[in-house]
Amino acid sequence: MKALLIIIDGAADRALKSLNRKTPLEVAHKPNIDKLAKDGITGIMDPITPGISVGSDTAHLALLGYDPFKTYTGRGAFEALGAGVELKPGEIAFRTNFATVDENMRVIDRRAGRYIEEAKEFEKIINSISLKDNPDVEIFFKHTVEHRGVLVLRGKGLSRFISDTDPHEIGVRVLESKPLVDTPEAKKTANVINEFTRIIYNLLKDHPLNRSRAKRGLPPANILLLRGAGVLPTIKPLSEKFKIKAACIAGIALVKGVAKAVGMDIINVPGATGGLDTDVLAKVKYAIKALRDYDFVFIHYKGTDAASHDGNVWAKIRMIERIDSAVGYLIERIKLDETYIVITADHATLTEETRNHSGDFVPLLIHGPGVISDDVDMFCERACLKGGLGRIRGLDLMNIIMNYLNKVEKFGE
Ligand SMILES: [Zn+2]
Repeated sequence: MKALLIIIDGAADRALKSLNRKTPLEVAHKPNIDKLAKDGITGIMDPITPGISVGSDTAHLALLGYDPFKTYTGRGAFEALGAGVELKPGEIAFRTNFATVDENMRVIDRRAGRYIEEAKEFEKIINSISLKDNPDVEIFFKHTVEHRGVLVLRGKGLSRFISDTDPHEIGVRVLESKPLVDTPEAKKTANVINEFTRIIYNLLKDHPLNRSRAKRGLPPANILLLRGAGVLPTIKPLSEKFKIKAACIAGIALVKGVAKAVGMDIINVPGATGGLDTDVLAKVKYAIKALRDYDFVFIHYKGTDAASHDGNVWAKIRMIERIDSAVGYLIERIKLDETYIVITADHATLTEETRNHSGDFVPLLIHGPGVISDDVDMFCERACLKGGLGRIRGLDLMNIIMNYLNKVEKFGE
């Protein structure tokens, strides 16, 4: 028995004005997913607990069976793991942006024009930085995509409890990092970050690469903004917890990082962009192959969440419809009597109101051998309210799936 979990990021929503008080999942034409709902069991799920708005990182931890209140150690660690950076216990990882600041360190462009052609050369410069005040701390930087990257501090006596240097808005000065707890480690780490920020600005402000950018009318990439300090979480991997081999297919570093942290293998799929332009079918094709070698395969689609953040209802609906056609391809080609298919969202994203994640519940369906079907014949928030699974927590999902695979150890005798 195998299981395939498909998480459609931010797919759930509220009853929207522009859709005559229906949700995108209700309006989208998705015959394949609805057929799975009809033949399977459905329900609703609170990714963490009712009303708690969650990040994609904490939500995925919960959905993969790990209590985020116990295991979450900052976003930076997952970004680093997802970017393929080896992270050791005690090292501090940050998400970073190349940005443009003026001579007063005021942020002019949080993305330095977004596309940084010279990123690999800047990467070399950053990796050659040695700190004078903190010579025992080593800097490691990896550029990922566009203006983004990951920074890791390697050394003894560091802490993740420090504030961001990224002010998250323009026209404001780069922030000084401050210790968030009263420990020598936090003070030292904030000090390291502030020294690093001074050095990098002095190195890059008049650098020939930036002068050349200026000549071409591009904003200089003269600072690195840091946020989301994190450390490697201490986690018992899925292979030990459930004695399974698990793999993840995702486009975005954050989700790959969470999957890697819980011990999943990462399958990189060409064309998986983590956006609305992702190759939905390629992910499914790789998943079909992976189901031969793995007990549990997880596919993540991000485009729905991205559409909601842009406030674009119809892009969200079209993305759901594209995923549905990929699901149609999938169910024609896998052994449905040997595979459980689970479809859900990691949280709702409100396309019309906040354009951000919310604490609303999400729909859930499980299709597979022996599953007792309910009367629900559509995968959406409203229909799944009547589902046989009732209302569950995200943290229960893996146990429910693993129970179908008969992988859950007995509690007591
Ligand atoms: Zn998400």
